[in-house]
Amino acid sequence: LTSNDAIEEHRICVCVRARPLNKKELSVKDLDVITIPSKDVVMVHEPKQKVDLTRFLENQTFRFDYAFDKSSTNEMVYRFTAQPLVETIFERGMATCFAYGQTGSGKTHTMGGDFSGKNQDCSKGIYALSARDVFLMWKKPVYKKLDLQVFATFFEIYSGKVFDLLNRKAKLRVLEDGKQQVQVVGLQEREVKCTEDVLKLIEMGNSCRTSGQTSANAHSSRSHAVFQIILRRRGKMHGKFSLIDLAGNERGADTSSADRQTRLEGAEINKSLLALKECIRALGRNKPHTPFRASKLTQVLRDSFIGENSRTCMIATISPGMASCENTLNTLRYANRMKQL
Ligand code: ADP
Ligand code: MG
Repeated sequence: LTSNDAIEEHRICVCVRARPLNKKELSVKDLDVITIPSKDVVMVHEPKQKVDLTRFLENQTFRFDYAFDKSSTNEMVYRFTAQPLVETIFERGMATCFAYGQTGSGKTHTMGGDFSGKNQDCSKGIYALSARDVFLMWKKPVYKKLDLQVFATFFEIYSGKVFDLLNRKAKLRVLEDGKQQVQVVGLQEREVKCTEDVLKLIEMGNSCRTSGQTSANAHSSRSHAVFQIILRRRGKMHGKFSLIDLAGNERGADTSSADRQTRLEGAEINKSLLALKECIRALGRNKPHTPFRASKLTQVLRDSFIGENSRTCMIATISPGMASCENTLNTLRYANRMKQL
């Protein structure tokens, strides 16, 4: 492979999804400052003030592989993001799909499913939709003859530590051997035979994720959730799909927090999101110093970034409200950097 081929091989797809204004935003009459004029353009109308205090809107335009507006469904977002990666793992590759954005912007809604109503429905999230298509492909004659087994893992990285969501949040150690192979010791890998099996595991992991927390959202905003579908052939790894609901990227307030623990957690999250950016930007570039070890997140995902046949997709989720403008612009700038490999 020449380096150009390698970049082609490791192409990353970067998308943006804006959600509708929610009840809370509507109740305080927040304004929608996002427009998506075409299928790959996002505009942010940022309110500003001149020195003479006249108000004006500064329009900032970003272009991505796809931009999904507030009318988009999970199924639509899925079709252009994770779905094309399903085949990768059958072709012995590594696939990774991240949701990145501010807390409340729709990461969990996109990845995990709809938890807004009383009925917690994970069947429409990208975890479940991916599982559905993995099983469809698994049954195709061309792959059926490979005799692949399907497994799932679900864990959380919180404050630099790994917790197994399929095993009552057992704290797990991460070891790296002499060949820089990373292993999460004791991580439960459950065999799954149909989509229903996977839905049960997602539900179990989700309830485990939030149990014992005074505020479910406060906790999930500070942790990365990683859901993986692993294909094995005669016990050996054949392909792996990692689907990640990242910690909220708004961390400005944390750095000045009076609470030491909050500051430390905030710093840890900043570090991991920075390391993630660097690792993705290094994809396919044969960079000897990719900073995998800079965070637990990138260390655990190491093999997903170095495989010969790896593909990555990022979904940047944004809140449409004027009050979220600064976080939204930060999210879009981060996403923009990912595109420029
Ligand atoms: P995050 O995980 O980024 O903190 P959530 O996914 O929990 O955000 O979303 C916050 C709230 O907004 C939830 O009540 C969720 O149901 C709602 N929401 C998010 N995205 C959408 C969407 N695309 N359409 C409708 N509601 C959404
Ligand atoms: Mg969430």
